[in-house]
Amino acid sequence: MAKPSFEMNNTRLLRNLLLPVHVSRRTYFGKEQSYKQAPTLSYSVRDAAYDFRSDTVTVPTTAMFEAMRTASLGDDVFEEDRTTNEFEEFIADFTGYESAVFVASGTMGNQLALRTHLTQPPYSVLLDARSHIYNYETGGLAYHSGAHVIPVHPSNPIHMTRKDVMNSLIVSDDVHYAPTRVVALENTLNGTLFPLSEIANISVVARENNVKMHLDGARLWNACAETGDSIKDYAKHFDSISLCFSKGLGAPMGSMLVGSKDFIKKARHFRKVFGGGWRQSGPIAAAAKHALEANYPTRLRETHKLARQFASELSQCGVLITKPVHTNMIWMDISPLGITSNVLQTELTKENIRIFDTDATNLRATITGEKAENDLHLRTWWITRD
Ligand SMILES: *Cc1c(COP(=O)(O)O)cnc(C)c1O
Repeated sequence: MAKPSFEMNNTRLLRNLLLPVHVSRRTYFGKEQSYKQAPTLSYSVRDAAYDFRSDTVTVPTTAMFEAMRTASLGDDVFEEDRTTNEFEEFIADFTGYESAVFVASGTMGNQLALRTHLTQPPYSVLLDARSHIYNYETGGLAYHSGAHVIPVHPSNPIHMTRKDVMNSLIVSDDVHYAPTRVVALENTLNGTLFPLSEIANISVVARENNVKMHLDGARLWNACAETGDSIKDYAKHFDSISLCFSKGLGAPMGSMLVGSKDFIKKARHFRKVFGGGWRQSGPIAAAAKHALEANYPTRLRETHKLARQFASELSQCGVLITKPVHTNMIWMDISPLGITSNVLQTELTKENIRIFDTDATNLRATITGEKAENDLHLRTWWITRD
């Protein structure tokens, strides 16, 4: 491979762009210390701070550990854990639903929701061809629910429209078809916002046809933080929503599925069948609750601002930004720099920086705000160029 200095300069430029420089003095784990001199305990903090691959890469703060330490330790399969029960009630209320069940992962939340909505095959689920449920849940819809899937390629580059749904929805009882029982939407999808007005239009069509609406709201927190909408505004249009605490909010794990009382009761039954009945879930619930309280909505909004700042720096550097940066994700094409994703990744690895590639020249960076006590960011990316 040739080594035109132009290319190498650009590689270095990009590396410098990605290097967080605002890393001087921070307080974490009770000690004031330089970020680069982080001791063993903080090693994962430093790793996370340089890891742009996903907003799942976060680490608990001391305050979060403290919340975990003081949580109740009852048995959640018996529905006797106070911290978990209170958190479920809080989220049900906060989102405008009757009931909620705390589960291990976003995938489990989505799959339980669909399994609970779908009762008697043959049936189909309509969703965006780019969605998490369709692409990244190991074919779970077929495995758990025996469902046929209708992946829609939206006419609009950002989100599905009412028309897309009407064109693909199967309402016929002709024996050749698998009638659509659920429309599953996702917000944010690839970090972009699904307008509430279009969601409302879609839900009207679904309800007219007796079709359930599920929202994969793994990152609905980001959408609401950005738009100022409340989760309740979305809830009106969906029979169920799954919400993750393990993404930008920064909890180590945990998702909530919300819906009607009967729906959640049934989902709880399926959760046990899935092997997802957990015992002393209190500390996990406490971490999730703390993540929400500490980071929603202000901290999330800050990460979005940083993402936009970062994207603008990248584009000044010649990088193509391939999707609008509505929230915490930056999708980029580095081909104008004359380097490949591999070359860039190799270069960045030298600095311990990790970034996710989608193909030979396209990559994704996500921004999360890790914060320690005293409200300091552990992961503030004040991006500068040398
Ligand atoms: C992360 C994510 C999930 C669930 O992921 P888990 O790793 O199973 O927690 C579901 N949907 C979307 C859109 C996600 O981003």
